Amino acid sequence: MSHVHGGGDAPHQPNTDTASSDSDRRKFLKLAAGSGAIGLSSTFLASGSASAATAAAPTPVGAAFQKPFPVHGYAAKAQGSALTPFAFDRRAVGPNDVAIDIHYCGVCHSDIHTSHGDWGPSRYPLVTGHEITGKVVAVGSGVSNVRVGDRVGVGCMVDSCGHCHECSAGFEQYCEEGPMMTYGSEVPASVEPTGTTQGGYSTAVVVNKDFVIRVPDTVELAAAGPMMCAAVTVYSPLRHWSVRKGSKVGIVGMGGLGHLAVQMATAMGAEVTVFTTSPDKVADAKRFGAKEVVVNYDADKMKGLARTFDFILNTVPYKHDMDPLMATLKRDATICLVGIGKAPEPNQLGIFTTINKRNSFAGSMIGSIHETQEAVDFCDLHKIAPDVKLIRMAQINQVWADVVAKKARYRYVIDVKAA
Ligand code: NAP
Ligand code: ZN
Repeated sequence: MSHVHGGGDAPHQPNTDTASSDSDRRKFLKLAAGSGAIGLSSTFLASGSASAATAAAPTPVGAAFQKPFPVHGYAAKAQGSALTPFAFDRRAVGPNDVAIDIHYCGVCHSDIHTSHGDWGPSRYPLVTGHEITGKVVAVGSGVSNVRVGDRVGVGCMVDSCGHCHECSAGFEQYCEEGPMMTYGSEVPASVEPTGTTQGGYSTAVVVNKDFVIRVPDTVELAAAGPMMCAAVTVYSPLRHWSVRKGSKVGIVGMGGLGHLAVQMATAMGAEVTVFTTSPDKVADAKRFGAKEVVVNYDADKMKGLARTFDFILNTVPYKHDMDPLMATLKRDATICLVGIGKAPEPNQLGIFTTINKRNSFAGSMIGSIHETQEAVDFCDLHKIAPDVKLIRMAQINQVWADVVAKKARYRYVIDVKAA
C-alpha cells in the first residue's frame, strides 16, 4: 500500500490558539529571523503533518509536563568550542504542544556550520540537532494529530508565523517572518527556558503539533532521523525541478544529503551521475543507484559529459569551482545549490557561465512540513534508507571532526539512549 501523501498544495490551516506562549512565539519569529542566529531557514508547517489517522481524544498532560522540565544534552558554550554536557529545561507542554522523548538525532553538516559561526553569529549555549526521532510522551489539550506513544520526528523548523503569503501557501520554510528553527532561534523563556531554541542532541523536546512528522511503522526510528532534514532537503528540489523517468541528473558531493539524493533521484526514474572527491565512494555510489561516477572532475569524463544534464543538485558544504559543473548542463537546465558554504567565502560563477546555454543557478531550503512527510513516505514506499552509523552523544566532537574530514559513511546518528 502506498504511503505517499498527495501534493504539496494543501491550504495552510492558520493556528487559532490563544495560549500566551504561542503568541509570544509568533512575535519572536521576526526577531529571530533577523538575528543571524538562524541556520537554515525553511519551513513547512501547514497541512496536517503528523498522523491524522491516529486522531483520538488527547491524553491529559501529566504533572511532569505541566511545568518546565529538566533534560540534558550536549551544547557548544561558545563559537567553535567543543560540545560538553549541558542540563537545561524544556517548556511546559502547552495546549498545542507535543513533548517527545528523543531516541535518535542525526548529525547534519548544518549543525557544525551553525555552531562554528560559518553563517554568522550564533547564540550560546547551543544544542544543535534537527534530525530528531522519538516517541510522544505528552500532548496538549488541543492536540489531536498525534497521541502518546506515537513514533514521530522533528526536522529543521519548530514554528512559523502561520499567516504570511508563504505560510498560507504551505511553504513555511520560506516564512516571510522567518521560520523558528529547531535550534539557534531567539525566543522568549515561555517558549524555551534558555531563550534560544535548543535541538535534538538532548533527551526530550517540546514542539508545536503542526511541526511533528509521522514515522511509519515500517521505518526504523534511527533511519528516520536523517529523513527529517537530509532527505527532504534533496527531495524538495528534485520534485520542484520535475526529476522523473528519463531525466539525466548529477549529484555533487556524496555525504549525508548526497547519498540520499542518489537513491531518491534513482527511485524517481532518473539516470544519475555522482560527482565525488572521494575515490573510495565509487562502489557505494553505484550501490545507491548511480550509473556513472566522476572522481575529482576527471578531465576526460567532464568533456564527455558536456551538455548532458537536465538537473544538477549540489550538496558541497564549502567553496568550490562550479564552472566545470555548469558546462555539463543542457541548454535551459538548472543547477541547484543546497550545500551552504561559509558566509565570507561565497561560490562564484564566471561571467559567461549562465549565459552560454541560458542556464539557471538556483538554491533551495529544506522543504515544507508537508514535503517532509512526503519525503519520509517516499523513502518508506521505495525502501530507501540512509546508511546510518550509530554513535553515543559523548562521541560527538570526534564525529564532527570526521564529518568535516569527509569520513562520514554516510550519516552519523546519535543513539540518545545509549550510555
Ligand atoms: P556531509 O555529510 O559532510 O556531505 C558533504 C559532502 O560534500 C562530502 O561527503 C563530500 O562528498 C563533499 N565535500 C565535503 N567537503 C568538501 C570540500 N571541501 N570540497 C569539495 N567537496 C566536499 O554534509 P551534509 O550533511 O550532506 O550537508 C551538505 C551541505 O548541505 C552542508 O553545507 C549543509 O549545511 C547543507 N544543508 C543545507 C540544507 C538546505 O536547506 N539547503 C539542509 C541541510 C543541509 P564527496 O566525498 O563525495 O566529495
Ligand atoms: Zn540538516
